[in-house]
Order: sequence, then C-alpha cells, then structure tokens
Amino acid sequence: MFEGLSDRLSGILSGLTRRGALTEADVTAALREVRRALLEADVALEVVRSFTEKVREQAVGAVVLKSVTPGQMVVKIVNDQLVAMLGGEAGIIDLNAPAPVGILMVGLQGSGKTTTTAKIARRLTQRDKRRVLLASLDTRRPAAMEQLAVLGKQVGVETLPIVAGQSAVQIARRAMEAARLGGFDVVMLDTAGRVTLDEALMQEAADVKAATNPHEVLLVADALTGQDAVNTARAFDGRLGVTGIVLTRMDGDARGGAALSMRAVTGKPIKLVGTGEKVDALEEFHPARVANRILG
Ligand code: GDP
Repeated sequence: MFEGLSDRLSGILSGLTRRGALTEADVTAALREVRRALLEADVALEVVRSFTEKVREQAVGAVVLKSVTPGQMVVKIVNDQLVAMLGGEAGIIDLNAPAPVGILMVGLQGSGKTTTTAKIARRLTQRDKRRVLLASLDTRRPAAMEQLAVLGKQVGVETLPIVAGQSAVQIARRAMEAARLGGFDVVMLDTAGRVTLDEALMQEAADVKAATNPHEVLLVADALTGQDAVNTARAFDGRLGVTGIVLTRMDGDARGGAALSMRAVTGKPIKLVGTGEKVDALEEFHPARVANRILG
C-alpha cells in the first residue's frame, strides 16, 4: 500500500552522514515527504500547510542525537507534533450537569449518527450505569425514527414513543420533560441528517439546541470524508458550538487524516471513534495510534 514516512525520510536524508544540526535544506526535503504523507492520509490542504510550518520551526537547527538518523529525528518531531495537535487525553462524554443531561447528536446523513447514538447509549448504560432516554428528531424520515427504536431495543435503552405530526423542537422538549418525570440521567437527541450541509438542517438543530440547552453537542463524522471533513466540522461548529467529535468508520481504510483536520479547524476534542457496525464497536480516541496511522 503506502511506503511509510520513516522509510521515505531515511531514503531522502541518507546522504546526510554527518551529525549535527538539521539544516534548512534537510528540513525542506523532509517536509516535502511529510506533506505527501499527510495528503495521502487525507488531511485537508490548509491543515497540512499549518502543520508543516510548525514542524519546520521545530526541526530547523534541531540537533540530531547520536543514537538516531536524521530521518528518524524528523519522524519523531512530526510524530510528537501530530500527537500534540490531535489532543492530549482520550476524551470522555461529560455528564457533569444536573439531570437529565442533554446530548445533542449532529452530523451529515450516512455519517453513522444513529448507530453512534445507540453505541454511546449502550456505553453510558452498561459502563457508567446511567439511565438513558433516546429520541429521534428526524421527522421527515420515519425509517430513521424506527431505526433508532430498533437499535435502542437492541442495547436495552428506552426510546421516546413517536407522536406523529410533532416538530423536532416539540419532540426534543417532550423528551426532556419525559426524562425529568421518569428520572432519567441522560437524554440523547438524534437530529435529522442531510446528505449535504444545508441551512434548514442547521436551523433546525440550532432551534433544538436553544430549546433544550444540551450539555454536549457531539458531531458525528465519517473518517473517510477526507478533504470535506474541514468544511463539515467548520459548518457544524460555527453554527452549533460542537463540544466534541466522534469519528466513525475507523475500522476501514481511513488513514485518519480527517481527525487531524477536524481537530485543527475546530479545536474541539475527538472523544470517541466508531470501529464497526455493531453496537459495541466504539472506542476511546488515542492520539498516538491515529498519529501512527496518519504517518503510515
Ligand atoms: P446516519 O444516517 O448518520 O444516522 O447513519 P447510520 O447510523 O444509519 O449509519 C449508516 C451506516 O454506517 C450503517 O450501515 C451503519 O451500520 C454504518 N456504520 C456506522 N458507524 C460505523 C463504523 O464505525 N464502522 C462501520 N464500518 N460502519 C459504521
């Protein structure tokens, strides 16, 4: 598949037998390869640029240690910078608010939003022993509402009964009220997705947010979205104030560039990753692992 960045850099910098500091020319040659690796991993162009500039600042003049080759040295600088940019600790869902804690799930249609809602509900129920209520706000697609009900049953979590003719905001309000009366700890609101970013989608989600004041707004995004990841993340975060990102389909071929792109443009943590279609295929996000994947 891909030739790893370390191998490439060793090749590029192999002429460099002397030890000492990395020169501007060494770094420029190395950064060309870094840039290629990042683009192959689907990191958005603007993020590649800012990333390589940061690496350049650190690498030029860096003293090459006796124990490593110049290539290994650059790879270490790149790797450390990647881990730093991807964010420190593995993220967790923040439930530190008065019950019922609202979690608003947003994202494009097909990103895995409904599946991820069920996965998180399962985790909060089984691992954290919380009582969770699920509600689908996708009034235009009865099949989506039905899908959440089926998944809810599968993970042993209650779903708000469907009442025909209600708007997304009305359903969301009813869910919060039902949770209050029923003594639920958490309410997860699965908003309607659209195939593309559109104003109606954003407005509806914004109205739901205003009506329910959720503690978390989680953006679900497909790791395979590549260059589009930046636009998606920027649009949702700009409009809705995302509190965290869940990256799905990390079980596939995705090299994980979307993780870096989204984190870089929003500054919001990647909290969890989806690793399969099954309801237990949800893991914490580990920056070091994703950095490895991006570097190939
Ligand atoms: P939504 O339209 O955003 O609600 O997307 P769905 O939850 O309906 O998911 C769309 C498809 O993606 C379904 O077939 C899911 O099983 C699948 N899916 C969701 N998350 C993952 C994941 O992490 N890995 C894989 N391989 N498939 C996933």
